Amino acid sequence: MKIIFPSTENFQLAKSLLQTIEKSGEEAYIVGGAVRDTILERQVSDIDIATSATPEKIIQLFAKTLPTGIAHGTVSVYEHDHWFEVTTFREEGPYDDGRHPRYVHFDTNLVGDLSRRDFTINAMAMDQNGELRDPFHGYDDLLAKIVRAVGDAKSRFQEDGLRVARAFRFAATLGFTIAESTMAALSSSASFLDKVAAERRLEEWSKFLGALTAPKCDWIPDAIVSKWTGWNDFLFSTCCHQITEVDGVYDRLALIFLLTESNADARLETMMRTLRYSRKGIEEVLALVQASQTWRMTSPIRMTLPFGKALSSYGESLLERAVRLNVIQDPLLTLDDELALSIKWLNEHPIRTLKDLAIQGSDLIRDLSVQGPMIGMALEHLFDLVANNQLDNTYESLMKEANDWIMETVTDEQVIRKLLQTAPKNLLIYEYKKLSSTNDVAREKIAEARVPMLAVFTDHQESGRGRQGRAWVLPPGKGLALSLAFRLEGEDRYRLQEWPLFAALTVRSALSSIGIEKARIKWPNDIFIEGKKVCGILTEMRTIDKEVHLVVGIGINVNAELNDFPDDLKSKVTSLKITQMKSISINMLTARLIDEFYELLLKYQAKKRFSDQKEEYERYCITLGQHVHVRQGHDTVIGIAQRIDEEGTLWIGNDQGSVIPIRSGEIIENSEDRV
Ligand code: ATP
Ligand code: MG
Repeated sequence: MKIIFPSTENFQLAKSLLQTIEKSGEEAYIVGGAVRDTILERQVSDIDIATSATPEKIIQLFAKTLPTGIAHGTVSVYEHDHWFEVTTFREEGPYDDGRHPRYVHFDTNLVGDLSRRDFTINAMAMDQNGELRDPFHGYDDLLAKIVRAVGDAKSRFQEDGLRVARAFRFAATLGFTIAESTMAALSSSASFLDKVAAERRLEEWSKFLGALTAPKCDWIPDAIVSKWTGWNDFLFSTCCHQITEVDGVYDRLALIFLLTESNADARLETMMRTLRYSRKGIEEVLALVQASQTWRMTSPIRMTLPFGKALSSYGESLLERAVRLNVIQDPLLTLDDELALSIKWLNEHPIRTLKDLAIQGSDLIRDLSVQGPMIGMALEHLFDLVANNQLDNTYESLMKEANDWIMETVTDEQVIRKLLQTAPKNLLIYEYKKLSSTNDVAREKIAEARVPMLAVFTDHQESGRGRQGRAWVLPPGKGLALSLAFRLEGEDRYRLQEWPLFAALTVRSALSSIGIEKARIKWPNDIFIEGKKVCGILTEMRTIDKEVHLVVGIGINVNAELNDFPDDLKSKVTSLKITQMKSISINMLTARLIDEFYELLLKYQAKKRFSDQKEEYERYCITLGQHVHVRQGHDTVIGIAQRIDEEGTLWIGNDQGSVIPIRSGEIIENSEDRV
């Protein structure tokens, strides 16, 4: 039988190749896909040639060749911008590994060569005149649109598991059905796919998935798709119909994940990796899945940095593609409405990438003295506001917002250092993301470091030491645990019992320096605002030879909300945010505390005494005149707090008319108030 030899450039070049080989006394044919697609009038991309000539002879015959697969008899021949694969007739020895023949041999003819090919439609050859050689009746199968294995189907699939995938791939790309006997063999051949390298499975899977058009596509057993993709228990049949409603491999993959995986984006990456998809491919599918989920599940939809980034990488069509995926998933949505909405949404958001911001990371570094990960976080914060029309995209407004945000949101040792005014900038300051006790760490640090003072802080104290073993945990960013450690030597080791009172005064004045004037002291060292406790101080000391290591631990409820406190404490405690009705910068507060304590150290070294500050202390002390319970050893002293003396001792007048001294460092409780 003869078919019309195509007149296209590549076929005409192939023809002259065939002629050159034949003139040398050998046979040569166009084989495989090129013949199949010519008959089907489909576009042909590569033309494979089979010949009786040896590879050595081919290399001699043509000016430009490459020995691309010489062991299998393949030489690539280059003619006028086209490459042709020329392969010596060959048959294959037995298959040991389900993928590769143990050897190939070349003592065969055209029919032998065609017999090793996978399907009848791929096992035809055509000579330079268009004369067809078709020993397995591929032409009839082409007309009948049938994919049929050459020879015994089951053993052909067992020889090479890739053929299992190719059977379905050709059925999908050509819109063919699979011959009954071949299908029967396929049904029990899923496991042969295990032997096939992921890269080869991916190649066939992508062609298959991209081509699938059949309105009915559940003829492919789920077990085969599972092995083909390497995605365990993948029920392709549950989603294959919907998949054909979108175009493109990536869109179809995204839809598969959206339809079959409750946790689509988490599984997608692992699953696509098992098939060796490229990073770029994985990212595109991920972007589609995320765009679809964002669009479907959040309301109002905010322009986020990852979303904006995806839009600028993949274009606005990303959103359109995501919308199509959503409409397929949710029959209540209509495509036109959703598309109109998405276009409106896109136009409402002024910027899509960080580059669109009227400020850069380098501006923040220069003007706000920030460093490291904070820059990225600050930019992301600005992006969120500008992209969602909550902030003008001007340098001034961005700088102001960045400044406020940095001050109020993120604790950062670098920022605190920059904010120091009186304390030296090189003071040792240790920041922890989380810590159970800043006092413990501060005590260790001061024992190691030969410095007069250092600071340890966290905005996430995990347990903390409350009185009566009582402590609660504030969420990160809502509380400050700051310990200041001092190394007191020689002359400086006097009147250590005055430190708790100094500490209370110092905290009060630090609060005052950031505009909080309502802080009061409950003897000896608790800080109250409007009758509720906002801060506790725990002073601990240890004497080592001639040194005293003194640690003042301060715990402040900074930005806590009422709901952050346990119910039984809600009436007794408060936070700076609650009393000031605005967030407080933990960075700023920490810097002021460090400054004030540094000054205290200097004054203490200059022989300042409590008596010098007694009046100030009394002015802010809320204990005087109060009815108090004081535990002293096993006894409890009950009476009225009468006065504080020069050394900071509290004198209590009891019912029996005696006045009893209580030195600081002992526990005191108001009769009603046992916080
Ligand atoms: P297309 O290039 O359009 O995907 P094709 O049929 O050209 O389809 P190729 O992978 O290029 O496929 O292979 C060329 C020819 O080699 C096929 O037509 C077929 O005859 C043969 N062939 C390819 N892979 C196998 C295989 N795994 N087992 C047997 N024969 C195969
Ligand atoms: Mg091909």
